[in-house]
Amino acid sequence: MKIVFLGAPGSGKGTQAQRLMAEHSMVQVSTGDLLREAVAAGSELGLLARQAMDAGELVSDEIVLGMLRDRLQRPDIESGFILDGFPRNLAQAELLGGVLAELGKDLDAVILLDVDLDILLKRLTGRRTCSLTGKLLNIYFSPQSELDACTEAGGELIQRADDNEATIGNRLDVYRQQTEPLIEYYGRAGLLHKVDGQGDMDAVYGRLVAALGLV
Ligand code: AMP
Repeated sequence: MKIVFLGAPGSGKGTQAQRLMAEHSMVQVSTGDLLREAVAAGSELGLLARQAMDAGELVSDEIVLGMLRDRLQRPDIESGFILDGFPRNLAQAELLGGVLAELGKDLDAVILLDVDLDILLKRLTGRRTCSLTGKLLNIYFSPQSELDACTEAGGELIQRADDNEATIGNRLDVYRQQTEPLIEYYGRAGLLHKVDGQGDMDAVYGRLVAALGLV
């Protein structure tokens, strides 16, 4: 399947996409991850992207689309993909339509993970990644045993640079102003499935696979 995940920062797109990828042989394509890799590698593109990312603004459509186009040309994409974090505005949605048409592909579904603002804030401020395993954890919601397992094995619980309160506010504003219009855009295209993204991760996953007709 070829899927787009829509949802505010902290709505669980990355977590759910990783599980869908593990269980249904699809590839997760996260433009945020691709950009963070470029920043970590110190590439020219990474340097250009970094300022916008640190401020919680969107990186230019041109940079993100270039990266995405390269990624969608790799052979692993043939088994299906989940676009996590792209498109983020109407211009990107139009550009995505063009790239997919060039590649002879169509989207099967767009999933909106719906989560209330107070929960989003806790998810974002509490979010950590274990430096050893890459596992996504949360200091408010993960079992203490899982947090301890990381630190006791010598790992660190790392917070993303843009998960601080000032940047989070900006990212949520950007979402409301630029990304939310895509709900109507994909609704009109008949592709949108709204999934309640609150509560237990397994329950959200259950609703997600049901919406995609994968059960
Ligand atoms: P994410 O990991 O999806 O929350 O993305 C982290 C940051 O990367 C965002 O706050 C943006 O600065 C940048 N970013 C990710 N995806 C896009 C995109 N499709 N367009 C523009 N900027 C993006």
